[in-house]
Amino acid sequence: MKLNGVDFETYFKHYPDENGFFGKYGGAYIAEDLKQAMAEITEAYFTICKSTKFINELRGIRRDFQGRPTPISHLDRLSASLGNVQLYVKREDLNHSGAHKLNHCMGEALLAKYMGKKKVIAETGAGQHGVALATAAAYFGLECDIYMGSVDIKKQAPNVARMKILGANVVEVTHGLATLKEAVDAAFEAYATEYKDAIYCIGSVLGPHPFPMMVRDFQSVVGIEAREQFVSMTGELPDAVVACVGGGSNAAGMFAGFLNDPVDLYGVEPLGKGPKLGDHAASLKYGTEGIMHGFNSIMLKDENGEPAPVYSVASGLDYPSSGPEHAFLRDLGRVKYDVVDDEETLDAFFKLSRMEGIIPAIESAHAVAYGMKLAKQLGKGSVLINLSGRGDKDMDYVLEHYGLR
Ligand SMILES: *Cc1c(COP(=O)(O)O)cnc(C)c1O
Repeated sequence: MKLNGVDFETYFKHYPDENGFFGKYGGAYIAEDLKQAMAEITEAYFTICKSTKFINELRGIRRDFQGRPTPISHLDRLSASLGNVQLYVKREDLNHSGAHKLNHCMGEALLAKYMGKKKVIAETGAGQHGVALATAAAYFGLECDIYMGSVDIKKQAPNVARMKILGANVVEVTHGLATLKEAVDAAFEAYATEYKDAIYCIGSVLGPHPFPMMVRDFQSVVGIEAREQFVSMTGELPDAVVACVGGGSNAAGMFAGFLNDPVDLYGVEPLGKGPKLGDHAASLKYGTEGIMHGFNSIMLKDENGEPAPVYSVASGLDYPSSGPEHAFLRDLGRVKYDVVDDEETLDAFFKLSRMEGIIPAIESAHAVAYGMKLAKQLGKGSVLINLSGRGDKDMDYVLEHYGLR
């Protein structure tokens, strides 16, 4: 399939280019000393992704440790309640540790091992990336330093406990607002002094090259599996594929399986409380081009051009930018990015729980909510939704703030 000069048949050969660009988005806007470290990671990655030893080891881990392939479930009762469209979910909630994040963390940690590194470093906001990375580090016997703002440490006690039980060192960041942004800065600073022994593991398709490419490639297992499973289940391709977009890793992995197919792709961003700046985190819908955290993409800015404060009921989606590849696919018109708000999300959270027996992560409930809207609009055909994670982590919050519905 060709679109605006891009041939999706050979897309993965050309995007990103050797400097990490998807069109004008991406790149590596970082200090000189880190450029060397990124170049080493890029070189190691290109070597191992051609190595059958690495590929076979990762395949074995996916099967025997993560429990892959994860299934696709048909949503019988929910579909029937919406008309004639058939809804399906790819069950990343059944991936070990409860979400898609382990797909790239196991890849990144295996890369660390092949590079002879002793430690993995990362920041975390809600703690989901920290838990996935701590899991991977425990598996490989690597040290693990997770930087986290003190505000988030208080808010996310269960995830902090999980990281500690898994043997990770949770480093408290107390300066500034003591949330995700400060944690990112502190983790990068630590990495700049420790890069000989450590590797930085980014939690989404974000950051400087090669991370947006590497994380996408590690997540593409989701889309590759899903395409094969869907075709063998139904005999055809889905009409539409839907995934939620925070940084964009679960969406990038899912879309990778379908980019060259006649399938409509939808990325769903959180509209939160509404379209006013500060009330949402819908960067691809309302943002403008800019550079932050080492890459060029579309971002939400305040009046000084700095990353704007963002909000979503889903802490995994409240990031003021999205991966550069999403900005590129948006401009090309290959993926449509749209929004759902908190209310629609909560409705979907309870409907999926009660009609299907699946409690989704509140992030994933955004994709479910959009899939439900799409089902009503389309009137026929099939929609495949990426259920990026399970909702155990969100149950107390939902009951406390919204009550039973
Ligand atoms: C972190 C997270 C997300 C958002 O991250 P992406 O990189 O956009 O995929 C979505 N769903 C779940 C369950 C998460 O933990």
